[in-house]
Amino acid sequence: MTFKYFDKPEVFTGLRDSITTCNLCGEDKLCFDAEAFFGEEDISSICPNCLESGKLRDRDIFTCEGDIAELKRQLKTLNPLLKDLEIENIALQKTTELEKTTPHIITWQDWRWPCADGDYCKFIGYGSKPFYNSLATALSGERLFKRSFYYNIKDDSDIDYLWYEVLPEKEVKDYNDSNNLTTLFYVFKSLNSNTIITLWDCD
Ligand SMILES: [Zn+2]
Repeated sequence: MTFKYFDKPEVFTGLRDSITTCNLCGEDKLCFDAEAFFGEEDISSICPNCLESGKLRDRDIFTCEGDIAELKRQLKTLNPLLKDLEIENIALQKTTELEKTTPHIITWQDWRWPCADGDYCKFIGYGSKPFYNSLATALSGERLFKRSFYYNIKDDSDIDYLWYEVLPEKEVKDYNDSNNLTTLFYVFKSLNSNTIITLWDCD
């Protein structure tokens, strides 16, 4: 299963336990649970093929919400010669792709999907000390964790406290592990660099 903005969705969000009918192609297969998707239309199941190939594009259904204001700001900084309309078009195209073809992450709170380096980031897993330590190359895991906080939560988060008291000591390997936690850290990676972005929320 390959999704541009979501690594290993079969692990980190999971498919339904049994075969259901995909509401888009009508085939009976293992599908994603689509009941928590956003938008005016309701469906209950979508198969990985239909999601990945963009079958939601003509529907009023989306799986997440991108931080499009920040994306435009980054695109403008990276491409100062582009006109506003061109920035707008690129941002809309990327946001549609994100919101219509990305598996849904179950979260405690609503937040906007982060971006870095002029594109949306890829969700790569749930945060834990071992995970940050494994991602850290030049820095320590702790330094990486502190630097990775997304711009809109940096000032409101007590990052030292979170590292020492809240961040899980053990790996959060899959959706079932995440389901047992009331505070979750969501780890994203830039598509264009090694930049790591962290978001977090709680019950
Ligand atoms: Zn399908």
